[in-house]
Amino acid sequence: MTPTPRREQLEATVDLDAIAHNVRVVAKAAAGARVMPVLKADAYGHGAVPVARAVLAAGAAELGVATITEALGLRAAGIMAPVTTWLHGSAAEFGAAAAADVTVAVSRVDQLRAVLAVAGDAPPNVAVKIDSGLYRNGVAAEDWAALATALADTPGLALRSVFTHFACADEPGDPSIDAQTAVFDARVADLRTRGVDVGALHLANSAAALTRPDLARDIVRPGIAVYGRTPVPQVGDFGLRPAMTLDAEVIAVKRVPAGGAVSYGRTWIAQRDTTVALVPAGYADGVPRALSGRFAVRHGDALLPNVGRVCMDQFVVDAGDHDIAIGDRVVLFGGPPGPTAADWADTVGTIDYEILCGVGARAVRRYIGMRT
Ligand SMILES: *Cc1c(COP(=O)(O)O)cnc(C)c1O
Repeated sequence: MTPTPRREQLEATVDLDAIAHNVRVVAKAAAGARVMPVLKADAYGHGAVPVARAVLAAGAAELGVATITEALGLRAAGIMAPVTTWLHGSAAEFGAAAAADVTVAVSRVDQLRAVLAVAGDAPPNVAVKIDSGLYRNGVAAEDWAALATALADTPGLALRSVFTHFACADEPGDPSIDAQTAVFDARVADLRTRGVDVGALHLANSAAALTRPDLARDIVRPGIAVYGRTPVPQVGDFGLRPAMTLDAEVIAVKRVPAGGAVSYGRTWIAQRDTTVALVPAGYADGVPRALSGRFAVRHGDALLPNVGRVCMDQFVVDAGDHDIAIGDRVVLFGGPPGPTAADWADTVGTIDYEILCGVGARAVRRYIGMRT
């Protein structure tokens, strides 16, 4: 008999088969383009290292993260696939990036000079991130001429890639998508005219990869779709499979008499005698306090509503006449039949990205599916 695996009181179970499936969904949608899954923010809370192994096994060609520190974390775990980074502060370790063969995408001439300086005689591992109208990270319009000149004046320079990021790819048909593409194409043409080897071109995040195959170019950079959430629910779910299930053990069950008030502030008062169950997850674990009284957990086929305030470490559900016992497990969110991360997001007025990234470190990550 195989022993029952020990379950932690709060677990975020990540299905690596779902991750692999989602990579293939995106690859198919972006026919012909290579896939660079975006693993920033610890792979949207799923765990960057196991997710990196899963996406590479599923055929991803490269990885993307925001910071050099995140990239070095992948390298430290022995992940040697190409990694691109793009968000650099004044303390960014360009030397460490070069030593670890991490691609640094630059947004300014001073960053380019810093990357060229640390490369010494070796070919610099550098890309260019263009701001095509998001007014966030990337080379600003007013800095373009200087950067293009500096690139052209660096003999023998071969860029890894030139890329940009959309403001409204999740609103298919928004005119800014084509407008940003036109700016990007003009910048790339400018570099080519100046004799710069631009390398691979990429624009598409998940939403663009799924809805605009014509913009796939050489590489697509999906984030949320890899984790199985659609960025364009109004269009469809594309057969993506949510990878994360957040579930917890019931750690106490007790009777509340009519008139009993549950949790801080006594905001919920039992209208009749009932049974409540205690779930060891709170806002420190990514259950938004703003969800208080506005969500339910799944216990088998039953949905048990939260009552009273969500606290830092725990919340309470009303089990009514439903059978529940200490040690039972309840699902906070996951794939079908739900509840889903998108349900939580809709209720509190955010996006499921924030719900996934918000799952705290106390939720023990557990991996199922493919061996990595
Ligand atoms: C986060 C990010 C992505 C992934 O976006 P999704 O909407 O999650 O697909 C792609 N490219 C860049 C530059 C990003 O910062």
